[in-house]
Amino acid sequence: MVKKLKAAIFTFTSCFGCSFELLNMKNELLKLFDKLEFLRFNLIGRNKYSKSYDIAFIEGSISTKKEQKKLEEIREKAKFVIALGSCACNGGVNIVKNYRKNAEKEVYEENIFESRNVKPLDEFIRVDYFVNGCPFSHQELLEVIDAIINNKIFQPKTSSVCSECKLKLKGECLLTKGKICLGPITRAGCNAICTSNKMPCYGCRGLAPDANINAYIKMLKLRFKLTDEEIKKLLEPYGFLERLEVKNNGNKDR
Ligand code: SF4
Ligand code: SF4
Ligand code: SF4
Repeated sequence: MVKKLKAAIFTFTSCFGCSFELLNMKNELLKLFDKLEFLRFNLIGRNKYSKSYDIAFIEGSISTKKEQKKLEEIREKAKFVIALGSCACNGGVNIVKNYRKNAEKEVYEENIFESRNVKPLDEFIRVDYFVNGCPFSHQELLEVIDAIINNKIFQPKTSSVCSECKLKLKGECLLTKGKICLGPITRAGCNAICTSNKMPCYGCRGLAPDANINAYIKMLKLRFKLTDEEIKKLLEPYGFLERLEVKNNGNKDR
């Protein structure tokens, strides 16, 4: 019998939605149980201590010193680290906190959790695989696990959502209908699930490495007459604004 890989799921600052999404995988998840032994998976009541893991799935972004320390400990114990979902991959929605002064005080009156700026995992540790999306893409996760188990190469998508959308979209592009769609700058891999259902892409998979974000911003100004402030707000979630700064001041590929 093939030995199962020891796996664990860890949660940091997030809505816990990616853990729930694992349950939504239903039969696909049951099939994963044949290959992976989940030592830690809160939603199914597993919480076994282990000195090491083959795979650590990590959901959530890092927003406290305590979380950073725990993340670094997990990295030391895990052969492979998978960033699961947008919070872990690009800071998710949480990252908007970085642009609000006194966010903690407004909500809790004081910063009781000693929270700091929100960062994705790779700001602190080496991440082996990124499974983007809010929540993550089932297909992409299965491909990553297959790559780990069968020693294959996983090739993340570098093109934009438009590349998938154009194959599925029946009718006009949403931009031409006056709707702001972040598809041109967002990493493909979701099979354009929102736009092919006539909902504009809100960018949950983060910045596509191949995207021309500066040209996109120009288009927003010309076509939609957006101000710099409105564009900034639009690009705050999912780390676009942070990536834009990195892109303009030195590249950081992933
Ligand atoms: S990526 Fe989305 S669904 Fe997953 S934990 Fe973050 S906010 Fe929740
Ligand atoms: S609807 Fe959005 S994702 Fe689809 S082609 Fe137009 S801009 Fe791209
Ligand atoms: S279309 Fe955009 S918002 Fe919708 S799942 Fe894909 S990347 Fe996320």
